[in-house]
Amino acid sequence: MMHLDTDVLVIGAGGAGMYAALEAARGGAKVILADRSLIGRGGATIMAQMTVAVAVGEEVPDHWEHHYADTLAAGRGLCDPALARLLCEEGPEVIREMDAWGVGWARENGHMKQAFAPGHDRPRCVYVDFLNTGPAVSKTLRSRLIRTPEIRRIGDLLVTELVLKAGECVGAVGLHIAGGQAVTISAASTIVATGGLTRLYQRNSASANMGGDGYALCLAAGAELIDMEFVQFFPIGHLAPRLIGMDPIMWDPFRYKLGGRLLNGEREEFVHKYGASDAGKYVVTRDLATYAIVKEVEAGRGSPHGGAWLSFEHCSEAELRAAAGPVIDRLAKNGIDLTKQAVEVAPIAHYHMGGVKADVSMRTKVPGLFVAGEAVGGANGANRLSGNAITEALVFGRKAGKSAAERALKHRASADPEAFTAARSRLAEGRGEPRSNPALLLEELQALMQKQVGPFRTGRGLQQALERIGSMQAGLPAMKPPAGKPYDTELVDWFDLRTMLEVARCVAASALSRTESRGAHQREDFPGMDPAWDRNQVIA
Ligand SMILES: Cc1cc2nc3c(=O)[nH]c(=O)nc-3n(C[C@H](O)[C@H](O)[C@H](O)COP(=O)(O)OP(=O)(O)OC[C@H]3O[C@@H](n4cnc5c(N)ncnc54)[C@H](O)[C@@H]3O)c2cc1C
Repeated sequence: MMHLDTDVLVIGAGGAGMYAALEAARGGAKVILADRSLIGRGGATIMAQMTVAVAVGEEVPDHWEHHYADTLAAGRGLCDPALARLLCEEGPEVIREMDAWGVGWARENGHMKQAFAPGHDRPRCVYVDFLNTGPAVSKTLRSRLIRTPEIRRIGDLLVTELVLKAGECVGAVGLHIAGGQAVTISAASTIVATGGLTRLYQRNSASANMGGDGYALCLAAGAELIDMEFVQFFPIGHLAPRLIGMDPIMWDPFRYKLGGRLLNGEREEFVHKYGASDAGKYVVTRDLATYAIVKEVEAGRGSPHGGAWLSFEHCSEAELRAAAGPVIDRLAKNGIDLTKQAVEVAPIAHYHMGGVKADVSMRTKVPGLFVAGEAVGGANGANRLSGNAITEALVFGRKAGKSAAERALKHRASADPEAFTAARSRLAEGRGEPRSNPALLLEELQALMQKQVGPFRTGRGLQQALERIGSMQAGLPAMKPPAGKPYDTELVDWFDLRTMLEVARCVAASALSRTESRGAHQREDFPGMDPAWDRNQVIA
């Protein structure tokens, strides 16, 4: 058993958590930055390969108010205006600070290059290069961390519970995966920056760490969740053949530049059957493309792995290379020659608009508990604009770090290991043999979420999902393995199952009660937006 003491505890070391830790240290606080994975190498930030939306106005004149107007329009009336404004207004500052720290935003004639992305009214997205935006952002923040002695970094620590004393968050307890022991950390301020929930779905762009941990941790501690029904699906996620070392949403820039023919399993174009005109260009919107692919698969006309074909066979090698440069070589290493073969694509869960409810200081309802990044809900409403998520991670991370340090310096608490006793024993206790296999239930949950709580939902399917989730939750206590073994994957799976079931319940329940279709939430039994639903749902 190990107990540590700090001013600010940051849980999750993606873009939001790393920026938060740096800002808290800059504000004079002693910081612990903990992650269940390697510091700065787990989660979504390092996987993002493309765009960062920000009104720096270097490509064409721009102002944060234009970015804000586009963000609100995409959010279909549900954005939290104060959070959306914060994202857009402070975006330029963090992007310039990252520039000063050497991230290497792509430049032309001395100015930052900015690319156009759907939903933005002008070219607004900075990037590093086609493949390296997320890795460069992560590396830049990691290099700053290493040079900041006030920040203690702890990898391999799966945080399982936030600890409360007299209604305030006073730290957390976690499982040290390599050692198998409980670690408790007391902190005057705790920041949850654990990213999104897309691992809940069978088809996703996630890493194994994106099961919505922060949502479950914060809800259990008394914070509120908002907009949980809004999960963004990306229509042409890579499905087959196997692709190593590339972002599964990589086909998007190809389609902006080259078009691309979307074909069903019979090699016929099909999106026109669903009310869109594609003309071989793949200009169809994300929601309609998702709908058309799902319906073709349901009708038995899917590609061999259950999606659609995306073909660039009409393009010459020179055109492909001019559009995608080094990506063509990475594809070749995966044995893919786009001039000779189509690839299979399918809708994949990609980002979560909902999350923990916070104010513009990133404070939650629970004193001492802050949130940052994708863990925060509300800024993007019912639908997120391309490129807004990394800006959100950095801006909200910086803000959370500042607020958390300010609080910690005022409320410097002395360590009180007693407050952690109950949480520590909950982590350690277990029923032992005979054991069931939580990994199998995780797979079942992912399939259930894909089928019943996926891009298209019905009241009946959502009810069925909730019933099954409830029965799986009821069986959880009897399955808990005791802690104590190093690298106990069964125990980690159990914690993940517990988290993912709780988060799945929140998503399905919110989706069931929203009897309309809006942005990323599409109900087949309630098509179209209903003005009566111009409001957010909050889970407490
Ligand atoms: C493949 C892919 C491509 C993307 N491309 C883009 C893009 O081009 N532009 C854009 O704007 N956005 C993009 N996004 C979205 C964007 O990357 C994310 O929204 C953003 O990076 C989230 O940052 P974060 O710091 O909030 O979370 P993350 O970067 O996901 O970090 C969360 C961290 O929390 C840790 N963690 C989780 N649970 C626990 C726990 N219980 N205990 C301890 N640690 C925990 C994880 O290990 C992880 O390191 C993409 C996402 C993906 C998956």
